Amino acid sequence: MSLADRVKPYIRSLAPYVPGKPIEELERELGITGSIKLASNENPLGPSPRAVEAMRRAAAEIHRYPDGASFVLRAALSKRLGVTGDQLVFGAGADEILELIAKTLMGEGDEVVYAWPSFAMYPIVVQGMGAQGVAVPLTRDLVHDLDAMLAAITKRTRVVMVCNPNNPTGTSVGREAFDRFVKALPADVVLAVDEAYYEFVRRPDFPDAVALTRSRPGTVVLRTFSKIYGLAGIRIGYGICDRELASYLERARHPFNVNRLAEVAALAALDDEEHFRRTREVNATGARYLEAELARLGIETWPTDANFLLAKTGADVYEALLRVGVIVRPMKGFGLADHVRISIGLPEENERFVKALEELLARRRGGKP
Ligand SMILES: *Cc1c(COP(=O)(O)O)cnc(C)c1O
Repeated sequence: MSLADRVKPYIRSLAPYVPGKPIEELERELGITGSIKLASNENPLGPSPRAVEAMRRAAAEIHRYPDGASFVLRAALSKRLGVTGDQLVFGAGADEILELIAKTLMGEGDEVVYAWPSFAMYPIVVQGMGAQGVAVPLTRDLVHDLDAMLAAITKRTRVVMVCNPNNPTGTSVGREAFDRFVKALPADVVLAVDEAYYEFVRRPDFPDAVALTRSRPGTVVLRTFSKIYGLAGIRIGYGICDRELASYLERARHPFNVNRLAEVAALAALDDEEHFRRTREVNATGARYLEAELARLGIETWPTDANFLLAKTGADVYEALLRVGVIVRPMKGFGLADHVRISIGLPEENERFVKALEELLARRRGGKP
């Protein structure tokens, strides 16, 4: 029996996650320098300086295991969110919370409903447990089709994922539609609301999913320090759950999954209101700028509540931008072949992207490839 035959068939057939192209890789391939990356929804301002300082101080202690209970961070977050400490589960990024949900609730014969296009990790974690993903197309406006998601629920459905705001479209679901959906959702289906971009939301009627964790058993809200807090490289995120679900996810969690530096960095970043405020401001200004400039170029975009923008730029724009040192995210793998997703950067990065795109479109209109 070959090794491949012994590997679980649903692992063998998994299509791995394709991350945004690293700057170093592009520059190595093309022999260029000075590239910019607007591809992974990272914080263009970098991490909070307070987080960096906290990690520096903690570095001398890394011979010690971390506090597996994340006592200090748990206390700070529970106070801030208005939930009890035992409603929180920490992970190496929100990705690990997804893994814990999968490990705890999904197996062969189970179904998991999610929208599509949505976060690329959903099909991976679901298939990784041998469960069946049920991908429900977004509406024509590229918003979650919550009615169709309800209709897709069967006796086998264990979990329904709602990515709000949705990656890679930036679109969001409002309170009224969300509340109606929750009312109609069978009580025995776990609801996972992925709010990785919560802190960037602009719409005033955004749903209060955290409140649900106090009233609906089988609810989990995912949040992360990777996006607005600028800590993607140190890996920390969390789930806010009803207490019973939290107790099961805790059983599935490895005791030292959140490292010592991540915990102190998260704690310091939470306290850095100035960095948080500036990030939101740079993002909102950048979003308005890119929306206006892309409209000027005749390119369709979708309203965003996140730190990125989906744009219908036409085919092969991703590759052409790479050649001039601008990395965005291709959407081919999501069935949106002539779209790209642009992470909102610093003003000079956004301008460089617009200039590169404008030149590219002008060349194409001129008849050259
Ligand atoms: C970035 C992202 C995450 C997870 O990020 P982590 O770095 O693992 O915390 C989860 N969901 C969505 C929709 C994301 O875009």
